[in-house]
Parts: sequence; C-alpha cells; structure tokens
Amino acid sequence: MLRPLAILLAAFATASTLQSSLQGKENQSAQAQTAAAWAEAHAAEVVELYTALHQAPELSFEEKETAARMAKELRAIGAEVQTDIGGHGLIGVMKNGPGKTLMLRADMDALPVAEETGVPYASTVRTKNERGQTVGVMHACGHDIHMSNLLGVARMLAANKSAWSGTVVFLFQPAEERGAGAKAMLEDGLLARMPKPDFAVALHVSADTACGTVGYCPGYSCANVDSVDITIKGRGGHGAYPETTIDPVVIAAKLVVDLQTIVSREIKPIEPAVVTVGAIEGGTKHNVIGDSCSLQLTVRSYAPAVREQLAEAITRKAKAAAMSAGAPEPEIVISEGTPSLYNDPELTARVADTLRQTLGDAMVSESKPTMGGEDFSRYGQAGIPICMFKLGAVSSERLAEFDQAGAPPPSLHSPRFYPEPQATLVTGITALGTVALDLLSSGT
Ligand SMILES: [Zn+2]
Ligand SMILES: [Zn+2]
Repeated sequence: MLRPLAILLAAFATASTLQSSLQGKENQSAQAQTAAAWAEAHAAEVVELYTALHQAPELSFEEKETAARMAKELRAIGAEVQTDIGGHGLIGVMKNGPGKTLMLRADMDALPVAEETGVPYASTVRTKNERGQTVGVMHACGHDIHMSNLLGVARMLAANKSAWSGTVVFLFQPAEERGAGAKAMLEDGLLARMPKPDFAVALHVSADTACGTVGYCPGYSCANVDSVDITIKGRGGHGAYPETTIDPVVIAAKLVVDLQTIVSREIKPIEPAVVTVGAIEGGTKHNVIGDSCSLQLTVRSYAPAVREQLAEAITRKAKAAAMSAGAPEPEIVISEGTPSLYNDPELTARVADTLRQTLGDAMVSESKPTMGGEDFSRYGQAGIPICMFKLGAVSSERLAEFDQAGAPPPSLHSPRFYPEPQATLVTGITALGTVALDLLSSGT
C-alpha cells in the first residue's frame, strides 16, 4: 500500500516528467513546422532540381557534372565546400555556433539501365560501359531524390539558422552502387577534412511503400555483401570428341546446383544467408568445348561467422567439383564488398520518435531488415553512430493498382521504377529536416 507522501512524490514526478516531455513535444512540433513550411513553400524548386538531376544521370565514379552541381548549390548557401574526395565525392560544412556535429549523406551515382517509365522527364542518356557496350543510364535507385532532398534540407537549414546550433556536414558520395564510394572517401582522409560527426543520418527511397510514409529499423538492417568470381579450368577440344577434353561447362553446371545446398543444408536455418549465381559464361560455339567457364556470385549474410562459413563452403565445393572431373584447381577470388549496416539503436530511437511527432504515428513504421547492401554502413564502422531510414516514394493509388493486379510494383533498379517527386520530396525534406533540427537543437 502506498503512503500519502509517496503518492504525492509520485504525482509530482509524473507532473514534472510530463511537463518536460510536453516542452520537448512543443519544440519538436515547432521544428516540424519549420521544416514542413519550408518544404511546402519550396516544393516546386526542389522538384525542378530533381527533374534536372534525373535527366542527367552519371554512372558510378563518373559523377563529375553531378558533383559540380552539388558543389555549386552548397556554395550558394554559404557552406565551406571541399571537392574531389575519393573520386567525385564532396562535403559542404555549415557552422552555426556551438553544439553537436551532424553529417547528412546522399549518394550521387546512377545505374546502367535504359529507362522505360514513360514519364515526360525520363532519362535518354546513353553511354559506353567498361566493355565498350552502349548502355542506357538511369537514376533507377532514387539517388536523384536523395540529392535533391538533401539540398532541400540544406537550403532549409541555411534559411532558418536561428532554429538550430552546431555544425552540419552535407556529404555527397559517389559510387554507392559499386559499394565503393564510402570506402574511397574514407580512404581519402574524409574524417580529417571535417569535424568528427556525433551522428550521421541518411535516407533511402522505398519502391514499395507509399509517399508520406517512412520506415526505420534499429540494429542490423542491410547485409554483408561479398562477390565471388570462380573460373573453372578444363581442357578444350572438339565437341564431338569429349573423351579428349575436360568440359568446364559440365563442371560449372554441377557446381551451380551444388552451391544451392550451402544455405539449405549447411547454414543454420535461422541465420540469414544468400548465395546467388548471377552470371555464368563459358564456350563460344555448339561444337567447341572451351578451356574455361566463369561464374559470378553474390553472397549475403549478417553474422561474421556465417560470412566465413559461406566463403569456406563455396571454396570447398568449387574445388570438389573440379577434382571430381579431374580438372585443375579452379581460380576463386572472394572480394569483400559492403559490410552490414547497423543502425545505432539509441540514435534510431530518437529519429523514430521525431518522425512520429512530425508525420504522425500512422505514417511511421518499423521496417524489417533486408539482404540488400548499403555502404552508408562504412561511416558506422568508422565510429560514427548512424541511422538510415526509408522514405516511401510511390503514390498509394499506384500501389493499390499493383495490388489489385496481383503484381508487385517495379523494384529499385527496375527500368520502370519511378517515384512521385513532389509528395516524396515534401515528406523527405520535412522528415530529414526535422530530424536535423532536433539533433542540433541547443542543449543536446
Ligand atoms: Zn541501388
Ligand atoms: Zn541506392
């Protein structure tokens, strides 16, 4: 049974907690209003920026014009800009009194995809890839939204300097699609070129959730991504005299099937893992047995032990397949790609709280981890608490149409993926802008 004094104290504590949380909420709602009002008032100019970027996509490590545009825009709002970091990477630093340092990141590269959306501002850009083939170029992963969204937030912060205190680093990163841009920037001394961020926040568009909504995922949210190249070596010859050859295509075919048993038979069923043979190339003609056959694999995992187990099993099975045919040992190259992305739980909880206050509970949900990769993870590995959240990008009407037709909407990287620019950007700038204002509010 509670004594009266205890009851009184409990009531007092509750009242003061309530008061400070109400104050916090008032601050947050003022911050949300600042960001939302700016986003609404400047929607047209940000959409124009988006459209221009969408029509001028550049492949990974070739983001020259895009980077020049970002630098120009950042200089226009008074940020100190440093360019050519790890390729075309750049940062703009905006100092505004004492306080924390927040890094906000957008990626700049597009994909070798020929656009088929049919939107009036579709990309018609063509270029040559490394093999000299002509390919279409398209922002099929929404990095054009990420850039215009971040510039919108930068302009909003520049126009509302009385609403925050501290330092913001706007980071525009090249070559995310190769899982190489963040690494290149860090290796080029990124952290020595700017104040050490107390936190870093980014967003990524989502192709299967509605504009107006956002999703967050505390802890691990994207997987380790490794690439494996296997070259099976045989002995070529005439297709009619197989007894004089060692056929690398048959060995590769057996290996493709055998690789499927790694995840299904060797990895604990509750541990996430993927082994996909994405490409296989061998031979030249019907009646010629070639000398070699190559395979390209993508390998995904979360736990470091599973990552090692997958590499060991792939190597063992490739060697075994060659040995069983009496072929020489295959060449196996395992390239460590992007590490898994770990959203700092404390920062993510704060971001999620701000998003709920800003957009309303119904618009914010916890999303599930995926086996995709994102090299934003590398800034986390470099010791910065990070949080990447998802931004819904497709209109709910369109999502309902796909649902009715029983077909999934076009995924990211699809030539038919397109976001709803205005609704996506207004929500994105309001969301990321309010998160920035909250993290840089004085006294925190
Ligand atoms: Zn992508
Ligand atoms: Zn992407």
